[in-house]
Amino acid sequence: MNMKYTITTPLYYVNDKPHLGSSYTTIACDAIARFQRLSGNTVLFLTGVDEHGQKIERTAESKNLQPQLHCDEITEKYKYLWDKLNISYDRFVRTTSPEHKKLVHDFYSKVLASDDVYMGRQSGWYCVGCEEYKDVDSNEEDPMCSIHKKNLEWRDEENLFFRLSKYQKKIEELIHLDGFIAPKSRKNEIINFVSKGLKDFSISRVNLKWGINVPGNDEHTFYVWFDALLGYVSGSLVNQQAPEITDVSLANWPASIHVIGKDILRFHAVYWPAMLLSAGMEPPLSVFGHGFLTREGQKMGKSLGNVLDPIELLEYGGLDAMRWFLLRDIEFGEDGDFQMRRFVDIVNSDLSNTIGNLLNRTITMSKKWFKDSIPVENPSFTKSHLNEISNIKINQYMQSFKHNNFKDAANSIIDLANSANLYLNERAPWKLIKDISNKEIVANDIYSVLESCRLIGVLLYPFVPDLSTRILDQLNIDSSSISFKKSLEWGLLDPLNGLKDAKPVMNKIEYINSSS
Ligand SMILES: [Zn+2]
Repeated sequence: MNMKYTITTPLYYVNDKPHLGSSYTTIACDAIARFQRLSGNTVLFLTGVDEHGQKIERTAESKNLQPQLHCDEITEKYKYLWDKLNISYDRFVRTTSPEHKKLVHDFYSKVLASDDVYMGRQSGWYCVGCEEYKDVDSNEEDPMCSIHKKNLEWRDEENLFFRLSKYQKKIEELIHLDGFIAPKSRKNEIINFVSKGLKDFSISRVNLKWGINVPGNDEHTFYVWFDALLGYVSGSLVNQQAPEITDVSLANWPASIHVIGKDILRFHAVYWPAMLLSAGMEPPLSVFGHGFLTREGQKMGKSLGNVLDPIELLEYGGLDAMRWFLLRDIEFGEDGDFQMRRFVDIVNSDLSNTIGNLLNRTITMSKKWFKDSIPVENPSFTKSHLNEISNIKINQYMQSFKHNNFKDAANSIIDLANSANLYLNERAPWKLIKDISNKEIVANDIYSVLESCRLIGVLLYPFVPDLSTRILDQLNIDSSSISFKKSLEWGLLDPLNGLKDAKPVMNKIEYINSSS
């Protein structure tokens, strides 16, 4: 059944250029989007940037730039990197666009109409890095932000408040729904937070120019989170030129999934659904909070000098290696560690040896013994058990992927490739072929292994679209024509299609010890 599927990455804060963490999130979303497209669904894949707030204003100031120019500069870096990572996004949202601003105003009028906004006073310790008021022990003299390790600033100002407390019951119901918050470990954290009672939160700031103005309160701009979360809606509108909240324009809403880092789960699983309910809109169907990456067991940070730049990693290992490792080795949802040695070993073992060599040597044998082409199976001979194994592995792959368990889905592909390698080694067609009367047996064996390679090529597509395309191309199959419905049945490899010349589809990476 064809379904609409809307997936979003976080809207990345343009304080600094994209790092490995945002690349990881975006690659994961890309894999999901590609999986959903192969499943026959109509996908809207949305990414973009969050550009307002005091932190951006100050960063631009420190660089002696107009905030807009600073935002333009960083935004280009995101777009450049997403292209390099072969991210198949459909829309790129910028919260400084006039369309987004209009949408924010339209949304605000609906929240006002629900009587969910009032003027109040807010005082407390504020972290500009987090754009958040912090709970501080009253005895503390110079309180710091535990995340940013910077002094908090005392604020005492008039703000507009959103009546979050009114939505206590509805939010409780929502967060208990099966699958709304994933993985399960994060669900309890939110249930615990909400059970303490939701407090109204301020949605405007005064004396901050770099933001969207609040209609009717000219000295206020919208709180950056209030504005940024709405980017998901403005990006999903059917008609981008007419940013209004109507049934027709919201055809791609609600989002099927917001994929985010675990640090911003509260905003997405509590504040955001309440804002939507207030405006008479549906909350997202699910929120997935993934973990953080460390490097060689250590937190990455500028001050530690151990930040792994995604562009450098890309230049070193290549795109397929980077995508494969991040999705295959790190349990999505948990924290993960990037180790260079492990990166090289896993990529070489999985992609170069297990999959690449299998394809390469089988094509070589096939061409040599079967007139430069693919042998025709003889149905009167017993079929290889690779047919059954592939059915089992495809099933496991589907189940794992549906739960965003990339690691298990990747393992199913490797299992199938291992089985095909084992089968080749056990059957040893290079020995059998020496007796010409075995030719039909060998034909069936070679066909089975090549057919397994075709299935592997299809299953790899969401993970490593480039490598998948190269594998399928060797089998003379156009990767743009594949789908799960049409491509996963055993026996679809057509001998009449022929084969290209065998050439390595994945070069090995050489390990360079760089502890810098
Ligand atoms: Zn902070």
